[in-house]
Amino acid sequence: MSVSILLRLAIAALICLSLDREALAQSREHPTADLLSELIRVDTSNPPGNEEKLDELLAAKFRPLGFEIEIIPTPEPGKAHFIARIKGDGSKKPVLLAAHADVVGVEREKWSVDPFAGQLKDGYVYGRGAIDFKGGLAVFAEAVMRLVKNRVPLHRDVILLSEADEEGGRYNTSWLAESNWNLMDCEFALNEGGWIMKDAKGGVQYVSISTADKMSIPLIVTAKGTSTHSSMPRTDNAIFILSKAMAKLADYETPPKLIPSTREFFETLAKTSEPPLSTYFNDLVNSRNPKVIREAEREISTNVLLHAIMRNTIAPVFLKAGVRGNVIPGSAEAIINLRIIPGTDIQKLKTEIQKVIGDPRVEVGLPSQDSPEGERLATFMKTAASVQPSSKDSILYRALEASARAVWPGTPVTTYLFQAGTDAIAWRSRGVPVYGVYPFPITAEDLTRMHGNDERVPIESLEQGTEMIYKTLIQVASE
Ligand SMILES: [Zn+2]
Repeated sequence: MSVSILLRLAIAALICLSLDREALAQSREHPTADLLSELIRVDTSNPPGNEEKLDELLAAKFRPLGFEIEIIPTPEPGKAHFIARIKGDGSKKPVLLAAHADVVGVEREKWSVDPFAGQLKDGYVYGRGAIDFKGGLAVFAEAVMRLVKNRVPLHRDVILLSEADEEGGRYNTSWLAESNWNLMDCEFALNEGGWIMKDAKGGVQYVSISTADKMSIPLIVTAKGTSTHSSMPRTDNAIFILSKAMAKLADYETPPKLIPSTREFFETLAKTSEPPLSTYFNDLVNSRNPKVIREAEREISTNVLLHAIMRNTIAPVFLKAGVRGNVIPGSAEAIINLRIIPGTDIQKLKTEIQKVIGDPRVEVGLPSQDSPEGERLATFMKTAASVQPSSKDSILYRALEASARAVWPGTPVTTYLFQAGTDAIAWRSRGVPVYGVYPFPITAEDLTRMHGNDERVPIESLEQGTEMIYKTLIQVASE
């Protein structure tokens, strides 16, 4: 063989190799991460939200694929909900995927990257909302679009809802349900909620699917003292009285309270953790010895997430006192944010807190029903009273379980109580089951960045999560 033939063969081989690499690069591309990056670049910090801008971006992607698009404006300019529906044959009720488009604001100077640039860096997508919940919106949207791109035959409608005002504001899904229930009515829905938690070795420790959410309730603690000249201080200074009350609450821990979803969750942790943690989880669920339970609960509570899931939590969030420098105010007020487990008797919890403070000069109460906040709370609590945790016995829950196991073989799947609140109440209060998941594997460290600084999500996790949700939709809507 001549040198020139050898050379030509070598060049041909090189070309083949580079074509192969290109194909490989394409197969390894990350459509969900790219979509997330685009979503982050639309600043939807709420207030004001400006969710409508994001709706236009989504419409431009969904409309050409044949989805029916509805953009529902709210009374607030720039704030809207987005619905994309792809029709099935109508033999079954729709499945809906809900994701909020708004995000919380940022402390920009504390970020090491631009929070609204959607930068892909070191295997992550960075930006406000990467976890909560634009990452979820990107996964849900990509999975739903993939159904259409792959021409999957559907026996039920698949609806993607991108929501406004989940992080705050009046025009959330409860508002939407009042006026447009027909557009969001479904057999069951997916939302944010449980975690796909990574273990120390980079694998997935467990997949948790929330079947209920905690509820957020404001509690007002008011201390009364004597209002007088600050040059002659007395012992009944309202600020001192309030401070002592807060100090007592700081040292107090509400007792653990497990409901079926958290019982299953802690049992799963017992099976997937190393000793001594596994023993503590086991003791928490199964022990009858109060001393053993207390010890377990104390150890487990060093993890703030687990601390929150097993109990009603008490967090002071506002302090109000004082009028001027030379006056001791006659009263001082703290607002406490309670996060309660569904089924908690709020009056009993209020009495418990009053007893812990143990000072007749301190009043504990809910916002007055005459105030707009009190009125909203009363309506919310009336609705919440009718909400039951969603049953595991449904096609959607089983499909989530099966697809999670397919994507991460050997990983346990468990129910979960979401430690924060979501807007799932619009469906659950109407008897529609809602299952919550942040659909991407994540580490505990990354989780602390949610609502914080340098929020980020792994690119690979987004693609795996899309696979999981896509497989779930196939089972629920096509098989
Ligand atoms: Zn969220």
